[in-house]
Amino acid sequence: MRIYMETYGCQMNEYDSGMMKAMLRASGHTLVGDAARADAVIVNTCSVRERAETRVLGRLRHLRGLAGRDAILGVVGCVAQRMGDALAREVKGISFVVGTDQYALLPDVLESARNGLVRFETTVDPTESYVARPDATEAGLCEFVSVARGCDNYCSYCIVPYVRGRERSRPARAVVREVRRLAELGTRDVTLLGQNVNSYRDGSADFADLLKVVNDVDGIERIRFATSHPKDLSEGLVAAMADLPKVCEHLHLPVQSGSTRTLERMNRSYAREQYLSLVDMVRERVPGAALTTDIIVGFPGESEADFEETLSLMENVRFDSAFMFRYSVREGTKAAKLPDDVPEDVKIRRLTSVIELQKAITSELNGKLAGSTVEVLVEGPSERDPSSLFGRTRTGKAVVAPGPGALAGRLVPVRIERVTAWTLHGAMAENGRR
Ligand code: SF4
Repeated sequence: MRIYMETYGCQMNEYDSGMMKAMLRASGHTLVGDAARADAVIVNTCSVRERAETRVLGRLRHLRGLAGRDAILGVVGCVAQRMGDALAREVKGISFVVGTDQYALLPDVLESARNGLVRFETTVDPTESYVARPDATEAGLCEFVSVARGCDNYCSYCIVPYVRGRERSRPARAVVREVRRLAELGTRDVTLLGQNVNSYRDGSADFADLLKVVNDVDGIERIRFATSHPKDLSEGLVAAMADLPKVCEHLHLPVQSGSTRTLERMNRSYAREQYLSLVDMVRERVPGAALTTDIIVGFPGESEADFEETLSLMENVRFDSAFMFRYSVREGTKAAKLPDDVPEDVKIRRLTSVIELQKAITSELNGKLAGSTVEVLVEGPSERDPSSLFGRTRTGKAVVAPGPGALAGRLVPVRIERVTAWTLHGAMAENGRR
């Protein structure tokens, strides 16, 4: 069958789509880039915010109209898991719904759909370990590798534990096998993914041990990971960041709020002071590390004083960048039972304030890099200026410099000359190494 797949949401969804595509190719199907030419249209969905879910439903209706009358329409991912067969009532003409724990069934479900059978596969099996991913046959320079699925933390605003199930770690040998395969296919930069990689466990091995074995894979130049829950950030992991040469000096450590009172209601299991001590530990052990974060403003009960604490924490830590959101109710979560009592105009004002502050901090930190030389992994030509190359520093910052995009895959030193909002501009110091 010719299959068209669309993906919404987080890095984990992107990874899962790659895995499903590999499975479908291995079953003899072909991936196409146009829904109108496809025999089956599959949408991998995100339900992290109510608005994202509404948008996906609209997109499904649109794709139903776009695809041929006989084309199969399937929904996978978090909305599939959350809504199950209710999806078929929302969008007419759905042939299957496959939840986040049942991707191994996808080739079989497609075959059923070809025979006119409508299937809903949304069981979450806590004993199920991992969907085996067929060996990759193609790979980019930068790839994701899943190391853990699900989450046990139940932050009060988050739907993830309900749609992705309990936390399960992938055996280290399977992770290393996949990283080796990707390296053979040309990957140089690998991001290890899990909802909370810090609580990774394979027997007695923890996430720091996993980083050590991935660090030994020939061909891989850079290792990143996401996401880290502050309550599980260990000294061992920070030491691994400091000591392992391929592990990049970048930590995404979502704080969500600077107020301990709000953090408690969010069920985040750490206080403001504990978070700040972790930041001190990282700064001490990994000099020059970039810190990034997630921030929610307007959580139920957030007073002006609580919000001021978020601003002061941002001033104190000086994150390199942040994903910033205003709270919106997510049905099915604990926080949905709390009164959504921060008025919308206040949420918008607070969001504007954190964005403005973060912009100022980001440009100040980036500005300090002017005049320094950074190591850049070239990803290819710059989209805006094809005569320049585009790449990233070890800390994940975007760099543009005159030079051929054909250097893709090389590590080149770039001297930074000027800085715009999110990009460092410079000149290549030499041709670099492969
Ligand atoms: S750690 Fe909290 S925010 Fe992150 S996925 Fe788990 S429940 Fe959601």
